[in-house]
Parts: sequence; structure tokens; C-alpha cells
Amino acid sequence: MTDIGTTVLGYPRIGPDRELKRALERYWAHKIDEAALRETGRELRERTWRDLASAGLDSIPSNTFSHYDQVLDTAELFGALPERFTRLGLSPLDTYFAAARGVQDAPALEMTKWFDTNYHYLVPEVGPDTTFTLAGTKPVDEYREAKALDIETRPVLVGPVTFLLLAKSTTKDFRPLDLLDTLLPRYVELLRRLHAEGVEWVQLDEPAFAADRTEAELNALIRTYHWLADESERPKILVAGYFGHLGRGLGVLARSPIEAVAVDLVTDGSFVDAVAAEPALRDKEVLAGVVDGRNVWRTDPDRALAHAATLMGVAGKVSVSTSCSLLHVPYDVEREAGLHSRLKGWLAFARQKVDEVVLLGKALRGDDVELSSARQAIADRRAATALADEEVRARIAAMRPEDAVRAPYAERAAAQQAALGLPPLPTTTIGSFPQTTEVRKARAAHKAGTLDEAAYGSAMRTEIERVVRLQEDLGLDVLVHGEPERNDMVQYFAELLTGFATTAHGWVQSYGSRCVRPPILYGDVSRPAPMTVAWARHAQSLTPKPVKGMLTGPVTILAWSFVRDDQPLADTARQVALAVRDEVHDLEAAGIRIIQVDEPALRELLPLRKACHDEYFAWAVSAFRLATSGIADSTQIHTHMCYSEFGEVLPAIDALDADVTSIEAARSKMEVLTDLSAAGFGRGVGPGVYDIHSPRVPDVEEVCTLLRTAVATVPADRLWVNPDCGLKTRGYAEVESALRNLVAASRAVRKEL
Ligand code: GLN
Ligand code: ZN
Repeated sequence: MTDIGTTVLGYPRIGPDRELKRALERYWAHKIDEAALRETGRELRERTWRDLASAGLDSIPSNTFSHYDQVLDTAELFGALPERFTRLGLSPLDTYFAAARGVQDAPALEMTKWFDTNYHYLVPEVGPDTTFTLAGTKPVDEYREAKALDIETRPVLVGPVTFLLLAKSTTKDFRPLDLLDTLLPRYVELLRRLHAEGVEWVQLDEPAFAADRTEAELNALIRTYHWLADESERPKILVAGYFGHLGRGLGVLARSPIEAVAVDLVTDGSFVDAVAAEPALRDKEVLAGVVDGRNVWRTDPDRALAHAATLMGVAGKVSVSTSCSLLHVPYDVEREAGLHSRLKGWLAFARQKVDEVVLLGKALRGDDVELSSARQAIADRRAATALADEEVRARIAAMRPEDAVRAPYAERAAAQQAALGLPPLPTTTIGSFPQTTEVRKARAAHKAGTLDEAAYGSAMRTEIERVVRLQEDLGLDVLVHGEPERNDMVQYFAELLTGFATTAHGWVQSYGSRCVRPPILYGDVSRPAPMTVAWARHAQSLTPKPVKGMLTGPVTILAWSFVRDDQPLADTARQVALAVRDEVHDLEAAGIRIIQVDEPALRELLPLRKACHDEYFAWAVSAFRLATSGIADSTQIHTHMCYSEFGEVLPAIDALDADVTSIEAARSKMEVLTDLSAAGFGRGVGPGVYDIHSPRVPDVEEVCTLLRTAVATVPADRLWVNPDCGLKTRGYAEVESALRNLVAASRAVRKEL
């Protein structure tokens, strides 16, 4: 063993060409059998291990593969899948998929965001009666599989404390963490198995400690790593705490009798000093996470080496690593033939990041390595003043605070009511209508150049007209154009704004078989031409009813892109906001009286640490307000959010000052309205009354019940009636019936007012 090690905390698993996605979907459609699915997984694992080994990493992770999600894998491994799945009598693999995706009468486990990333994990359900058993052998099997290829690996597991902190309790007044003492013996059993197998190191992930934690939770961390380390028949333990500053968790880990700690030195620039000041690390190996596992920029070698070097005298041994698993970045930038070569030179995807880690390891060891091309890439990016759009910068500098303020809500509401003349409990939708095969085909053909501009435009206009007529027939009060021209609510805008690039193969797993291809925001952002006006104007020309213009907000555009890291997010957000503002103004000038600016990711970018919330809210809210101001009082601004835990963002939702906010509420039976009212929210609100995540069509009475609950909480003159989210993923038959019932319910409850 050399003094300086190199590793990565995890690697993408969906396949460079999304092989796993395809195999999963074919398996679920009964087109391939379990053996074929498993073979795809095996091939992908082999490829990954061989790639990582040939790149020259000292330590290679295993058990980073998953058929769906690593948290679900952990629940399965410890025999903690809820009984509603295990009693179905399915094969182990199908039981696992039932928990992931749900089956008739056994709804899936809930899914939620993995910390502040756009990856979603499945939420384990535990209760006082949960018993854990070591029910599986996945980490052992994958270790063996790699060993058979002559590759020594380090199995990666979700740590016990993070696992329980991510779990949800099935009963009131019970904390999943109370199960710690029953779970730890099972981890010990697993460690023994791995040891017997010859495993030298395991990695236990505890990212939960990058967020604020209570005394009891920190005590659980202490207890856990003393307990596990106490076992003599075990591999060496590496605990990885990533996604930010570990706070007091760092001291706890440093003083635990484990062998190594991985720290994220990218997310929070001040953490390196805390690590350097921790005397208890002197007998430990510290993995310095200096290569960003979540973003796509090449690493500045001098900065990374300086950080790692700071720890040299502090830790017993320093290794070079990524800040977190590379799960969150695409595979290989070399495949992006369409990217501008200059931009490409600034980027590193997973495969390139592995090379960076290896190179930095060598440099740190004092080997004679060539850092000049890495330095040059950093310098070139920095020097790219051509990217600075003077006009955008001047416009932003000239903005005055009053440019982001609208008249008091009461005045606006009166002007809007006079202009729109809507009935009480007006009905509307969130924007997208089901995307038919013809629509998708037309978009693809247009992109491929086989359908010319004129033919494409006419196909879209026909679709818009169809959707408008349908909405008129259904009797909705505020119509939408249906978004047929949009592949994705962020990518559509990224393709039309300057400062963004899009990739061909840059897929990143979002959940299960679902992947997204985040655009890359690399330079100053501006809007060369209107992006949505022609479609909106066409829709409005077809009907006397108001048509809502439909835009994606600045925070969501940032959240679902890879964003430049050379200036504060707040500055980038302001530029995107200005581009959205230009579009808002043009929509208004084109006669669009209602404009919706979606911010479904407002919650996602919320920092893990409370101390950072105010700063985040300040820039997020001001970006939204900049985007939606400077218009007539009578122009109505809507926004939309869709997630269930609003708690901490409620004040920000209020501060956005939108005239109407539509929010997901159907599953929680309107609970969010109580929270909004309690937080003093006093503007228009459209709680979702139709759960669009399910093919189920709610009947009229069911919607009436939800509306009566709503009317009891919020004054009727501020209430709107709409589905939970866009209808893009649903089929027309269900959508038509559901919307018909929604309109009927609104009319019925109106009469009761
Ligand atoms: N307007 C978008 C749609 O209806 C909103 C999508 C979203 O909130 N994720 O599809
Ligand atoms: Zn939504």
C-alpha cells in the first residue's frame, strides 16, 4: 500500500446507453426473463469494475449496482420489506419490484428526493414490530463476482443511522431510530460474512450527517460506530459522510474506532478547515473528496491538491476521492460529439473524474505527472470572457429593487377579477396534456430534420387546437395550450436560451428506470427571441376564454441543470430570471392575461443546513419576483409546486407573491391548505384534487368532498380547482373523465357557497 490512496465513492449504474433501463422495462413488460435481466446487470457491473481497475484506482467500490435503488436494496437486505409485498407470493425479485412500483392493492413505497439531489429513493417503512434479519447476500455476491474477475472491491452499504433516518414510521409516536439496537446486530452479522469472504474494506454511507442533527441522532452515530467497530471479525470500516459539512458528526466519526472517514470538500468550502482542525483524525485514513461528484466541471488540480495537502499532517493517511458517489453525473463526456469542443474541454463526466482522482493521487504522492492540460482547461474556462455577456450584466446591474415588486395583492386581485370575470372556484389544469405518439413523433422528426419548420408548426397548432376544443368542451374556465412542443420543462427552455448546452448521452438516473438529461448552464444567460409566445398566441386566438401562458421558473431551471460553479448561484439565478421576465412581458404584450411560472423544484434546492435557508430563500424568491414583475396589475401570475412536504418552504411560497399557487394536495387530502393558512398565506390557491400519479379517475363526489374540505379552510373567493400536476404522463381517456368530474364537482360546490 502506498501512502496516498485513490478511490471513488460510487459510480453510475444505469449503463452508458441506459442498458439497465431498457432491460428493466422489458422485464416489467414480460419481454425478457429474470435471467436476461440479471445478465444485463452482471455485464454492467463487470464493465464498471474493469473500467475502474484499468483507470488505476487503488480501491474499487462494489454493491453500487442496483436494480432500482440502494435504499430499497438495504431494506430488502435486512428483511424489512412491508408485509403487503412479501405476502403476495411473488419471487424475491418481483417482491422487490412490487415495493418499488406497487401492484394492485399494494401501493408502492413512497419515493422522495435523496437529500438535495434530483435522485429519488424509496422510503422504507418501519414500526415498533419491525424485525430485521440478514435476509440477502447482495453485497457478498457482488464482492465474489468481482473477485472472480480478479478485482478486489470495497462493498458499499447505506449506513444504519442514515437508513433509519430516511425511513418512515408506520405508527404515530414512534421513531425509526428506536430500532437501532435491533438493526446493528444484523449489520454485525453482515460484516462478519464479508470478513469471512475476505473483504478488506467496507464503505458505510452516512450522508444524513451533512444535515442538522439532534443530540439523540449524534448519539446514535456514536453508538453505531462503537458497536460495529467492536466486532473483531470484520473488514476495516470507511464511513462516508457527503453532501456537505458534517458539523459535529465529523468529531464523532473521528473519535469512533473505525479506520477511515470520507469527507466532501467540494460542497462547503469551509469544511476543509474543520477537518484540518480535527486532532482525532490522526490515526485515521481520510478520503479527501476533492473531485465534485455532482457537477460536470473539470477539477482545478491546484485547488484540489491544496485541500488534500492541508490534511496531510492531520490524518494518518490521506487518499483522494470524489465528494460523493458519481451516480449523479453522466458516464462519459468523450461521447458528446455535438458539444462545442471548447466547452467539452472544461467538462468531466464520471469516467473523466476517475482519471482526475488517479492523477491527483499521483501528484500528491510526488510522482512526476503532467498537470498542465488540467491547468490549461481551468485557465481557459476562466479566461473565457467571450462568455460574459456585457448586455445581460449591464441590464442586471441597472435593475432597481422596485423592478421586482408588484402592487399590493388586494389591488391586483380586484384588477384581475375585473379583467377576467371568473366564477368562484375557477377550474384549470397545470399545463401539459397527454403527449400522444403523433406529437412525440412530430417532435422527433423535427429534431432529426425530417419534418420542416412549416409542417412541424402546423402539426403543433393542430394539436393545440384539439386541446383547446377539448377544454372548452369539458367546461374548464382557464385553458392551457397543452405543451405539445416541450420534450421537458427545463430542456425546452435550455435549448432556446444562450448560455446553455444540451447533451446527447448525458443521462443521469432519477429513480428506478427513469433518467434525465440535465442541460449544462455554462455561460451568461439571455433570451435571443420569444420562446413560447407564438404557441400561446395561437391558443388564445382560438377561444374567448383566458389561456394561461406557461413558463418554467428560474429556480427550477437551475435545479434541473448542471450549473456553472464559477459564480454564486444567486447571480446565475438572476440572469435566468431576467430571461423569463422578458418572456413574461412578451406574453403579456401578446394578450395573454394569465401567466404561470412553475417552480416545482423550489423545495429541492433547499440547503440541508437550516443556517443556510435564509440566504437561499432570499435569492430564490427575488429571482422569481424579478421574473414576474413589471406587468400590469390585471395580469395574473400563477405558480405551481408539486411535492408533499411544504413545511420549511411555506414562508418562501408566500414570499413569491404569486396571485395564484397551485399545489399537490390530493393524496394528503388538502392538508397543505391548513399549513398555508397557518403560515398566513392570503392569496389564491389551487390545491390539487386529482392525483395524476395514479391512473385512477376520481369520481365527482370524491372531488366534492375534497373541495368542501378546502372551502372550510380557505375563503372560496381565493380557491381554484385543478389537478395535482401536469397531465403529460397520463392517457386521454382517464384525463377526460377526471377533468369532467373535476368541473362537475366545482359547479356543484359553487352552488353550496
Ligand atoms: N407545467 C408543467 C406541466 O404541466 C408543470 C410540470 C411540473 O410541475 N413538474 O407539465
Ligand atoms: Zn407539478
